[in-house]
Amino acid sequence: MIIENIFKEKKPVVSFEIFPPKKEAELNNIDATLKTLAQLHPDFISVTFGAGGSSADNKTVELAKKIKRDYGIEPLVHLTCISNSKEEIRQILGQMEDAGLKNVLALRGDMNPNVPAKNDFRYASELVAFIKEQGDFHVSGACYPEVHLEAPDGIADIRNLKKKVDAGAGHLVSQLFFDNNVFYDFLTKVRIAGIDAPVEAGIMPVTNKAQIKRMVTMCGASLPDKFERILEKYGESKEALFDAGMVYAINQIVELISYGVDGIHIFTMNNPVVAGRICDGIKNLV
Ligand code: FAD
Repeated sequence: MIIENIFKEKKPVVSFEIFPPKKEAELNNIDATLKTLAQLHPDFISVTFGAGGSSADNKTVELAKKIKRDYGIEPLVHLTCISNSKEEIRQILGQMEDAGLKNVLALRGDMNPNVPAKNDFRYASELVAFIKEQGDFHVSGACYPEVHLEAPDGIADIRNLKKKVDAGAGHLVSQLFFDNNVFYDFLTKVRIAGIDAPVEAGIMPVTNKAQIKRMVTMCGASLPDKFERILEKYGESKEALFDAGMVYAINQIVELISYGVDGIHIFTMNNPVVAGRICDGIKNLV
């Protein structure tokens, strides 16, 4: 199934994101997570590519194969280019082709001081164009409602996003955000810029105060006052923050669906309990 086409048939599309476990033994345990996620019937599951990841130790394609073969769910394979050469990217695309995997989320990847850049690609748009030359792949891209941290301003960032779409990205997944108004403003600008590709809203259900503080610093997302108050009040109680975090994410999703967004992409952090709570909260809306 081509992911772009799911958006022609369904609204909203609901997808999950998972990451490959670091250790080989954990890759076997991922079945318990996948089994629960599969019962929630996501439209597709995206699999991250290790930050600064080299092609040699990447388990992304392996896990994507498992998702398709054992669970019959379409995977979206993340692929980063800053630390990979054209030849390495070709090899990964070859592995994908052999496994019948057609959908790629083309990313630049974050600069990692421990993994030198290979200089074959500067931007994700160059990777998108390269993948399109290599075969019959369907390419997605990332976008940033609160502006990518390295972009000089929002206009430049959207101009660059347009280059990525013009290079062949037919579907966009947003960075996480906690204020829906930020996403609506972004979407308006994206459409004014002439970008017609479906844009999925990235939702991060929060379960841990320290983790979320770290994440927002890394990705530049802002925390609205009402969210800060929740962290302040429930941040020290695991159970209370879990409840509050799930309700916050469900409220965000309900509002986004009523607004008419193309899709919701849930960063599950490989936690089936989280995905289950969210899906249960929206089961009659999608
Ligand atoms: P780009 O689209 O290349 O943009 C990067 C910066 O360059 C932006 O500031 C943009 O404005 C600017 N730019 C783009 N084109 C041009 C141009 N032609 N001229 C000048 N400036 C330009 N990282 C991982 O390592 N693994 C993952 O699996 C992963 N998954 C992700 C999933 C999602 C949904 C998102 C939102 C991000 C993910 N990331 C992942 C993080 C991502 O790699 C980083 O955010 C990275 O810093 C930017 O990647 P990009 O593909 O958006 O880059």
